[in-house]
Amino acid sequence: MVPKPMPENMEEGETETFAFQAEIAQLMSLIINTFYSNKEIFLRELISNASDALDKIRYESLTDASKLDSGKDLGIKIIPNVAERSLTLIDTGIGMTKADLVNNLGTIAKSGTKAFMEALQAGADISMIGQFGVGFYSAYLIADKVTVTSKHNDDEQYTWESSAGGSFTIRTGGDEQISRGTIIKLWVKEDQAEYVEEKRIKEIVKKHSQFIGYPIQLLVEKEREKEVEDDEAEEAEEKKEDEDKPKIEDLDEEEEKDEDGKAKKKTVKEKYTELEELNKTKPIWTRNPDDISAEEYGEFYKSLTNDWEDHLAVKHFSVEGQLEFRALLFLPKRAPFDLFENKKKRNNIKLYVRRVFIMDNCEDIIPEYLNFIRGVVDSEDLPLNISREMLQQSKILKVIRKNLVKKCVELFEELADDKDNYKKFYEQFAKNLKLGIHEDSTNRKKLSDLLRYHSSTSGDDMVSLKEYCSRMKENQKSIYFITGETREQVENSAFVERLRKRNYEVLYMIDPIDEYAVQQLKEYEGKTLVSVTKEGLELPEDEEEKKKFEEDKAAFEPLCKLMKEILDKKVEKVTVSNRLVTSPCCIVTSQYGWTANMERIMKAQALRDTSTMGYMAAKKHLEINPEHSIMKQLKEKASGDKNDKSVKDLVNLLYETSLLSSGFSLEDPAVHAARIHRMIKLGLGIDEEDLPLPSEAASEEMPPLEGDDDDASKMEEVD
Ligand code: ADP
Repeated sequence: MVPKPMPENMEEGETETFAFQAEIAQLMSLIINTFYSNKEIFLRELISNASDALDKIRYESLTDASKLDSGKDLGIKIIPNVAERSLTLIDTGIGMTKADLVNNLGTIAKSGTKAFMEALQAGADISMIGQFGVGFYSAYLIADKVTVTSKHNDDEQYTWESSAGGSFTIRTGGDEQISRGTIIKLWVKEDQAEYVEEKRIKEIVKKHSQFIGYPIQLLVEKEREKEVEDDEAEEAEEKKEDEDKPKIEDLDEEEEKDEDGKAKKKTVKEKYTELEELNKTKPIWTRNPDDISAEEYGEFYKSLTNDWEDHLAVKHFSVEGQLEFRALLFLPKRAPFDLFENKKKRNNIKLYVRRVFIMDNCEDIIPEYLNFIRGVVDSEDLPLNISREMLQQSKILKVIRKNLVKKCVELFEELADDKDNYKKFYEQFAKNLKLGIHEDSTNRKKLSDLLRYHSSTSGDDMVSLKEYCSRMKENQKSIYFITGETREQVENSAFVERLRKRNYEVLYMIDPIDEYAVQQLKEYEGKTLVSVTKEGLELPEDEEEKKKFEEDKAAFEPLCKLMKEILDKKVEKVTVSNRLVTSPCCIVTSQYGWTANMERIMKAQALRDTSTMGYMAAKKHLEINPEHSIMKQLKEKASGDKNDKSVKDLVNLLYETSLLSSGFSLEDPAVHAARIHRMIKLGLGIDEEDLPLPSEAASEEMPPLEGDDDDASKMEEVD
């Protein structure tokens, strides 16, 4: 109902003034000062807030019916006032307490406040505001002053008001009295008068809010003809003159004469107002999919999500049998700005029970890895007054969840047939699929078909595991992959050398989550996934190659042993490699420990539990290339004087260099730098007394280089 004026006995308290939190103030002045023509979205945002508030009170009332003692009517009303140039939105939702008004509308900034401003700076559009959770402030696109009067069951009625400019006020009471809910009055700017026009409001509501689940009523002015007695009409006219009630404003008289020409009755036109419902459409998910156009789905998706773009794909289905429900699932075009923000509960699937909205933050309805799917689920079987706790235990919910996952996977599979759209999807949500591989063992196989990777032969395209397998070489038994930080890094890595040379395709996994996913995936269509950076990489070889490898192993055995002695605990073992072509050596990791990439990822996690670093840290194996001139020379040199200090130093240098080129970080970069500098001095023929650096003085493993000429020349050769 249109609110009644405040009764006299309600006291107006003192007015308190508050400063907006700095970022909010900044956001408001951006909204006010940015040139932006699509201002109509303010109404969508305010209606969406009203609808949320109605959802909240309805949800509370499911377990405590007395919450609706303050009014059972749930809806939204829009009252334009042309004379005053104001627009009022009234909802009978949950309302706001004084603290809510202060916190929600001005003093507590959300992560979205800053994120939205940054997005605007980066060229985003103001209409995206709803996605960032600061939609309320869009009121200032068309209003220079906003008055919010609100009444929550737990508090008195309060009024918030602000003309922007950095501050707002709060006072008790307000101009209208309400029993529960919120009245938002917008004092429309002079040049935005279109937003108090009936036609314009209807147009905007139809465009943006037709799928809101509560009646949206607009107060419209109508005109009707009324027959009155002659004298009554005059009376009415007189009455009109002394009153300026808007109800009956104009009376166009039309005389109706009887046969003898004597005026008896008159028809007058009277103006009156009426509430007209603007959103009478049936919930879209209850309709037959064949009758719903792509545009309708798009409009519904946008009203559901506040997205400014259409969805990428949609799945509309019903499940019947022992259990019955309908669902409408949407795949957005983009990931939200805070997709993987920790601890943030996502409210992406709205749960309805027999058309009644229950909640939009039911965690168990869809697994975390599908947290980007938006939509509605409407169950026929759940009880209306179900609590969150009961829901978590519910078998019905488990069945719904299983079906939603199945349909989502189907949706992705269908999308995969459309290369361009799939690419868009994959760019945005590959992380989610990989998380799914990690977590969802039931659907792992199906999800693995959806993976795409760049590879040593894929060029700009990405390959699926299926494609990879279809072009495996005849004698190839495994799927080779490398994990790392960037494409360039893995592409140029020593590990990939021999495989590329022999035309084996190597998949590039450069997303941190690949490390986790691949640990669970293990194999695809019976073929093991093999990391080329781990020990024991066996490439198919012919007899001759095998023989040569055995010979190399024997010949380099003493060098390997010596290197292990020098490096001691830094490496697990030193072996002869068959994977290197141009690099002298590389560091591989043991089958069951972390890769270099994983070690990097773990070190980067600020809050990691340091205790795991010890036993999980990559177990390093140094592999040497028997074909490489450095190794050949080193073997010669080492077979001479075993205690040659320069050998020790060279081995350390080789080790540290391979750490770097294999993707590890150095434990002590200063020591490494000191070694390199000494090499440079030797190369330049600088012969000076070495002053050890403080850090190296402390390091036992760092004996000063032997500066004799013999050594220097050897090193130049090596270079
Ligand atoms: P969002 O609605 O995305 O959280 P807004 O800036 O639009 O962000 O609104 C801020 C908060 O103010 C809301 O989260 C809600 O708590 C409160 N609020 C806004 N409008 C209403 C309303 N009509 N009824 C009750 N609370 C409201």
